[in-house]
Amino acid sequence: MKKLSIEERLGTTKFIVDEGVPHIVLDKSICATCKGKPCVKACPAGLYQVQGDSVSFDFAGCLECGTCRVVCLPKGLKWEYPRGTFGVEFRYG
Ligand code: SF4
Ligand code: SF4
Repeated sequence: MKKLSIEERLGTTKFIVDEGVPHIVLDKSICATCKGKPCVKACPAGLYQVQGDSVSFDFAGCLECGTCRVVCLPKGLKWEYPRGTFGVEFRYG
């Protein structure tokens, strides 16, 4: 069986964006002092990128796995599920 790349795997999901209502919000002042910035390596969708002392983040494409919520020990983010009808959809078949 062919091993799928991250991009091919993410192609099996669709994210319905709730414009102006991000379900994950970062506190950039905490991110700027966060050592190691574990969210960057932990997010399976690669949504966190190091940007100077802090990180950039785009919630569109989130898989709602909750990993960033767990690894963010400095508590630099607020995490909630998207409102109903928004967020990730998994395509099967
Ligand atoms: S782990 Fe948390 S505090 Fe650290 S950079 Fe990521 S979101 Fe910010
Ligand atoms: S919930 Fe998962 S996919 Fe979404 S941003 Fe956090 S680690 Fe990435």
